[in-house]
Amino acid sequence: MTREQLILALQQEYAARREENMRIYEERRTQACEKCPGLREVLDARHAAVLQGVRTSLLNRFRKEGENAQLPNAMALMNQRIAEMLREAGLPADALDPVYTCAECKDEGYVYAPSRQMCRCMKQELNHRMLGELGLGASGNTFERFDETLFDDEEIDERDGFSQRKHALLAKKICLEYADSFPDTATPNLLLSGKSGLGKTFLLHAIAHRLVQRDIMPVYTSAYHLLEVARKAYFENSGDKLAEMMNAPILLIDDLGTEPMMQNITIEQLFNLLNERQLSRRHTVISTNLTMAEFKERYTERIASRLMDESSWRRLVLTGSDVRKKLKRGQA
Ligand SMILES: [Zn+2]
Repeated sequence: MTREQLILALQQEYAARREENMRIYEERRTQACEKCPGLREVLDARHAAVLQGVRTSLLNRFRKEGENAQLPNAMALMNQRIAEMLREAGLPADALDPVYTCAECKDEGYVYAPSRQMCRCMKQELNHRMLGELGLGASGNTFERFDETLFDDEEIDERDGFSQRKHALLAKKICLEYADSFPDTATPNLLLSGKSGLGKTFLLHAIAHRLVQRDIMPVYTSAYHLLEVARKAYFENSGDKLAEMMNAPILLIDDLGTEPMMQNITIEQLFNLLNERQLSRRHTVISTNLTMAEFKERYTERIASRLMDESSWRRLVLTGSDVRKKLKRGQA
């Protein structure tokens, strides 16, 4: 589902929730009236007083000032009487209050100050569902949870004088800036490369989480799934999913290089996808465990040269040893 479809579904659920809460409210009210003799009469009288107050203030607005002067006093007395009755019947003071799942938006899903915006409750649920749609519902891989201490800070990469941690921190910084500035990113595309277990997938998930927080729905796919989609489009002529990946304003492809190679499909479709996306200035982020040389060998020069074009691809290389081993050993 798209973000818009998810919102529509949520709005329908909120309407049903309001109805259900109204039903609970009526039920509670009926029960309270059964328990407290005379309560219904006072409630009706208060309701009538409110209506009368509204009516007179509308009709006599310019004529009789002070017509409603007695109303607050009368209301206070009635409220006091109602509270006493509830107390005497052993009912809680809020027994007649309206029932809301979210008091902030009264289950509207939106708040109106200063302007109409989605309430926190709905936004949280929407984000959760967007991540669910992306298959990242259970992934807690966010920038906030990025743990730099997992990366070694001792061993220095001779090529650039950076430690593994410094590489990882730089990659995190660039990915975060990318997610925060989309669609006005420094380069339209990112390539995260490095061996397995260096945090590439974590960063890709973190970008997705961040975009979702910003109300942007990316398309996230593993390379394996991408190939599956491409295969179906080729053999079964069902190209909807592939078109979705082609047209997504931002596409995240995880673990490119681990998918099986299929004659006529892998290379051709990948080239088409990347080429068309690049021509239409759509954003793509790829993680791969292949080096550029391996990439060239696997996907041909044609594709590799696309990714080597520095004006449209920023390449981040993660180095060092597998941090998952550290996690397993319980060092983190
Ligand atoms: Zn709310």
